[in-house]
Amino acid sequence: MSTYPYEAPETQSQLLFDRARAVTPGGVNSPVRAFGAVGGTPRFMASGDGAYLTDVDGNRYVDLVCSWGPLILGHNHPAVVEAATKALRNGTSYGAPSAGEVELAEEIVARIAPVEQVRLVSSGTEATMSAIRLARGFTGRGKVVKFAGCYHGHVDALLAAAGSGVATFALPDTPGVTGAQAGDTLVLPYNDPEAVKAAFEAHGPEIACLITEAAPGNMGIVPPQPGFNRFLADICAAHGALFISDEVMTGFRASREGMYGIDGVVPDLMTFGKVMGGGFPAAAFGGRADVMAHLAPAGPVYQAGTLSGNPVATAAGLATLRHCTPDVYSHLDTTAHRIAQLASEALSKEGVPHTVQFAGTMFSVFFTDKPVKDYADAKTQDSKAYAEFFHAMLNRGVYLPPSAYEAWFVSAAHDEAAVETIAQALPHAARAAAAAEKS
Ligand SMILES: *Cc1c(COP(=O)(O)O)cnc(C)c1O
Repeated sequence: MSTYPYEAPETQSQLLFDRARAVTPGGVNSPVRAFGAVGGTPRFMASGDGAYLTDVDGNRYVDLVCSWGPLILGHNHPAVVEAATKALRNGTSYGAPSAGEVELAEEIVARIAPVEQVRLVSSGTEATMSAIRLARGFTGRGKVVKFAGCYHGHVDALLAAAGSGVATFALPDTPGVTGAQAGDTLVLPYNDPEAVKAAFEAHGPEIACLITEAAPGNMGIVPPQPGFNRFLADICAAHGALFISDEVMTGFRASREGMYGIDGVVPDLMTFGKVMGGGFPAAAFGGRADVMAHLAPAGPVYQAGTLSGNPVATAAGLATLRHCTPDVYSHLDTTAHRIAQLASEALSKEGVPHTVQFAGTMFSVFFTDKPVKDYADAKTQDSKAYAEFFHAMLNRGVYLPPSAYEAWFVSAAHDEAAVETIAQALPHAARAAAAAEKS
């Protein structure tokens, strides 16, 4: 009956997605946002407040993505908005040093004991790319060891993952990365000390560094097995390679001091991003002072950035870190465990195989009943069941990560009402997942 154009079924999100696809590849500026893994039309957001996102059609969602981690205090936090606004009124960028950069660096150095010196950059990708260049410059070696399923941003040399449990020199994961760029990268299965030993026995004198997520969160949450990070630090030290702990996701999130605060393993270099930018582009790498001394202008390894240490971003980041009190972390911990338990109960009730895994206050739900210790295990999950689960949650006002391989993020603003909305939606979503299982 409804034939009038203004009664067309298109949502504002659909119309925006159509416009976006005309001018931007795939219609998005970061691939996961396109809903490729779950299908359907991505929701275009109009505003965020506390635990909630509101889309351009006026639908409100409890946000369990939180901008993929940065918004640990929730959207539109008054102190963060005030700090950023105050900075903004003094100009947006100086291209010269400013006090805010010193304060943010001091805050990071004060919190994270292994970080003696830190350099601010604008994205996690820049942080890991620069840390690897520094490790190569410091050691005079070329090869980099990484783990399958660990994501370190879209650095050429790190966009490689090997499929087998055997140490193999990586083939590029994407066109545009040359064999030479990926060829210096050795990709190993996660949580597998034997594979690491074999790699160092075969290539020890050529290995500049090993980089790992302090607790992988980019294949879902896969915590390191007890002693694994310490083993990595030791084997790197024994072979004169640097140990780089990527805490872009876990930093200031898994605990007040990230995963370092949980396992106490001291890396040579660390990378940070997400939370420390308070929702703005700010990231960092840092660590041993003698290694960082090799960085320009103190040393010969070049690294730079027009907007590095941007005054608005550093003000927002500093305000965020300063408001991350012990109360905030205990709230995140309690809330994450409650949501995880509610999800698990709902899925169990419908007989949907699943596994919940934690790293500090971070968690994810795998749609498989076996514990996930590496990427091969993560890939056994039922992505189709997740897609049904995801859409059922979305239709009931809960915005989950649009992929089964992602962590679920909570914030200080996720209160009783937000948890209740999630609790109400879960039984429907679990039934949808169970139906997908059987089909
Ligand atoms: C998000 C992430 C990155 C990349 O950070 P960007 O700011 O997206 O470039 C790197 N490492 C880890 C562990 C991450 O989670």
